[in-house]
Amino acid sequence: MKDETVTIDGSMGEGGGQILRTSLALSMIMGRPLKMERIRAGRKKSGLQRQHLVALKAAQEISAATVQGAEIGSSEIHFAPGRVTGGTYKFSIGSAGSVTLVLQTVLPALMLAGESSHLTLEGGTHNPWAPPVDFLERVFLPVLNRMGPMVTSSLERYGFYPAGGGCLHVNIEPVRELARIDLSERGQIRESKATAIVACLPESIGLREVSFVKDKLDLDGLHVAVNQVVSPGPGNVLFIEIVCDGITEMITSFGKRGVASETVAMDAVKEARHFIASGAPVGPYLADQLLIPMTLAKGGSFRTCQLTQHTLTNIDVIKRFIDVNIEVSPIDDKIWHIEIG
Ligand code: ATP
Repeated sequence: MKDETVTIDGSMGEGGGQILRTSLALSMIMGRPLKMERIRAGRKKSGLQRQHLVALKAAQEISAATVQGAEIGSSEIHFAPGRVTGGTYKFSIGSAGSVTLVLQTVLPALMLAGESSHLTLEGGTHNPWAPPVDFLERVFLPVLNRMGPMVTSSLERYGFYPAGGGCLHVNIEPVRELARIDLSERGQIRESKATAIVACLPESIGLREVSFVKDKLDLDGLHVAVNQVVSPGPGNVLFIEIVCDGITEMITSFGKRGVASETVAMDAVKEARHFIASGAPVGPYLADQLLIPMTLAKGGSFRTCQLTQHTLTNIDVIKRFIDVNIEVSPIDDKIWHIEIG
């Protein structure tokens, strides 16, 4: 029944913030009220943290929802959405809370809204445990835009964890219906890049990272670059971007105080080797992020090099809102095929 409340147990599977974001997104799209209990019970600091609260309030704002339990630390919420309206919105997280995770909450509804949107998101643009803006721009949005909407973003200011203070603008030209896509082939690797970004830190950190990657990763014609950027606080991140025929993958590794640049680079190299050896087009993070759009498109499929708990949990949450068949089958010991609809 359309108006029936969906009750979600936030301790299921991964037990993290993604269960909340997916639930809010689908509650708005399906027009079904949501009751969520045991929010982020799987995390050390459970309940709504600042970034989750901003995501909840952002969802409330775009859908004129009635909300109970919107407080820091809250472990239960009731969310009853109204009509989703596109427009100009500003969401400030006020800490290094991730801007891309707040976007993850509102984008599915806004890309199917009746009007275009322009969002300004302030907070962390480059945080561990969240999609960095570079991943959003080069990996996720190009795939999403193939499904019909036109979503573009522009980074005004970098914000690294923990200082935050970044700013991202996002434009959303919606569509009435999303088109199905299938991502089973990766095709040839056309280009690869290792880029280190450093803010308020010596350039040498980035130089050591990219030269380590160049040395260890056997990729013909790998380009390397170090970008020194302005940001309210210090930060360092290394990206390995692998541009294939039909898709791009971007591996991320964050620099940490007390961890050698070579160790940071080695983490990225290992992940890149795994992705390259698998032959699959979709990496572990894009995999969990494709599930909502493909479900809304009423079908789609992809092959991924890693089946994560995030992906499995997201499938379970989606099925609570939408009657959809999502099948996960191993192809070999390195690839999983996910078929939706
Ligand atoms: P929690 O609330 O549990 O503390 P969270 O709100 O940060 O965590 P998670 O449930 O851990 O959220 O979900 C993190 C999201 O960020 C997932 O969609 C995942 O795909 C994405 N993500 C994490 N790391 C990366 C990365 N390196 N590149 C791209 N996407 C990433």
